Amino acid sequence: MAFSEYDKFGEEGISRAEYEKKQNEVVGKCLCARCPSYVKGDDLIGYCFPLNGASKVIKWEKGCLCETCPVFKEYDLNHTYYCTRCSQACQTYKTDVAIGN
Ligand code: SF4
Ligand code: SF4
Repeated sequence: MAFSEYDKFGEEGISRAEYEKKQNEVVGKCLCARCPSYVKGDDLIGYCFPLNGASKVIKWEKGCLCETCPVFKEYDLNHTYYCTRCSQACQTYKTDVAIGN
């Protein structure tokens, strides 16, 4: 699989300021706080984003709004339940390992 599949957000090689700008945009558009699975307690939502990572407090999957999120469409994401299963890049890596790519 091409490296870009691991870098949907294009954060490889960008400056810290650019990374934080993109991160803020993702968190600002994120629907997680309205999701039935969401549990308050994490400072940072936008669980799909590379270093935001999975939630420390969400343990149960009760539905996921990611596929209806503007970030999902904008960055051509293809996983869900980032809060419990880890970020976009992380889930892509796990899938590739599982199928032996
Ligand atoms: S795709 Fe999901 S985790 Fe990512 S910003 Fe949207 S609602 Fe949040
Ligand atoms: S990643 Fe999906 S399941 Fe988790 S809180 Fe966000 S919208 Fe809900």
